[in-house]
Amino acid sequence: MTETDTMAMTDVGEAAITALATAMAEAMFAHAGELTDLDQAIGDGDHGLNMKRGFEAVMAELPAIAAKPLPEALKAAGMQLVMKVGGASGPLYGTLFMTLGKEIGPAPDRQELAAALAAAIAAVKARGKSDTGQKTMLDVLAPVQAALAAGASIGEIRAVAGEAADATVPMRATKGRASFLGERSIGHMDPGARSSQLLVEAVCGVLGGGR
Ligand code: ADP
Ligand code: MG
Repeated sequence: MTETDTMAMTDVGEAAITALATAMAEAMFAHAGELTDLDQAIGDGDHGLNMKRGFEAVMAELPAIAAKPLPEALKAAGMQLVMKVGGASGPLYGTLFMTLGKEIGPAPDRQELAAALAAAIAAVKARGKSDTGQKTMLDVLAPVQAALAAGASIGEIRAVAGEAADATVPMRATKGRASFLGERSIGHMDPGARSSQLLVEAVCGVLGGGR
């Protein structure tokens, strides 16, 4: 039995939703400069600002969002991200959160969370006409989902997310703006992979209290 298996007993309530959203927002605020630098290397340099703007909107709506049951809260947060993040990543992160909200119950256990994340990743792929191996956020989200489904501990999931983001460095981008660079996209971490890693870490920090 690991940490994520113990969370199924009761509904994920207002305090937990507040903690999760706040941790994700703080991660985006703290790393906005880094995400922008990464996007400057292989994109147009707006990813940090995009994510910061999106999570500022989530935080502005947080009392209303956190008062909702988890599925509705996820959908509401996803709507804010679609409306405010912009760029390619806004609709994709929005789709991720909205699909999680559609697929998940108010008191998800590990298997339910893993299944919902699988559906959300499939929705991102459909929306982005993309797949893993193209140097995008999917290259972090998919291995994290696999680790979750396989019963990994929170510490292991954090490690998988970090390794997956690092693994985008030698990849050649074939989707999104970075693909315009062709071979020159090699040697830089994908900004969306890094933001996904940071979001996963933030969630792990709340669920597991760190490592
Ligand atoms: P834009 O590329 O429009 O400037 P952002 O800079 O906010 O948008 O986001 C870029 C990130 O979005 C990339 O680093 C990548 O991870 C992700 N991304 C872009 N296109 C796709 C896609 N089709 N599928 C999955 N992820 C994508
Ligand atoms: Mg960009």
